[in-house]
Amino acid sequence: MTEVKKEEQKACEEKGQVKPESRKKKYPAIDRKDCAGCSVCVENCPMNCLRMEAPKFHGDIHTIAELAKPEQCTGCGICARHCPIRAIAMKEA
Ligand code: SF4
Ligand code: SF4
Repeated sequence: MTEVKKEEQKACEEKGQVKPESRKKKYPAIDRKDCAGCSVCVENCPMNCLRMEAPKFHGDIHTIAELAKPEQCTGCGICARHCPIRAIAMKEA
C-alpha cells in the first residue's frame, strides 16, 4: 500500500468509515439443507445471477437456489434480505 493510500485508509478509519476498496466482497452462501426452493431470491436479484438448480431426477420438485454467475454478483445482499427463511448468509469468498 502506498503512503497516500495508507493516509487515506487511516483517515477513513478515524472517521469510522471503511474505504470501499479495503472491504472484501461478499457472496451469498445458500444453505442447501434449509433452502425451501421458493425462488424469491432468484426473482429479487438485480443482477440476475441466481437461478434454481436443475432437477436431479424426473419429478424432483425440491430444487434449490444457486449462484450461477458469481462474476456478476455485486455482493449487495438483497437476496439474503429477501429470503423468507434466512437460508442465505453473505460470506467472503
Ligand atoms: S448479493 Fe446481490 S447481486 Fe449477488 S446474488 Fe445476491 S442479490 Fe444478486
Ligand atoms: S429465497 Fe431462500 S428459501 Fe427461497 S430459494 Fe432463495 S435461498 Fe431458497
